[in-house]
Amino acid sequence: MAETTIQSHTPREKKLEAKAPRKPRGKVVIFANWCKGCRLCVEFCPTGVLAIGANEIPYVAHPENCTACHWCDTHCPDLAIIVKPIEN
Ligand code: SF4
Ligand code: SF4
Repeated sequence: MAETTIQSHTPREKKLEAKAPRKPRGKVVIFANWCKGCRLCVEFCPTGVLAIGANEIPYVAHPENCTACHWCDTHCPDLAIIVKPIEN
């Protein structure tokens, strides 16, 4: 399964980046082959970890912002994203 890891910075991402904690609490993995590009995870991640790539598949734009809240992996309709807790 493919894991997408492209980097980019939009104004919204930069604003969220300034507020978010520096150490990630979760490692986000996206299974591109299962994802249908509905964008739920991108739109509702509270810290702007995810963004949509050119192929309409989300990628982890700001891994350092993940709080491991598990909103994304509990709401993804296709089970295409998982978050593994990181012990700091
Ligand atoms: S676990 Fe929470 S903070 Fe981390 S990517 Fe998913 S929705 Fe965003
Ligand atoms: S919620 Fe799931 S199916 Fe929808 S864009 Fe995110 S990873 Fe893909």
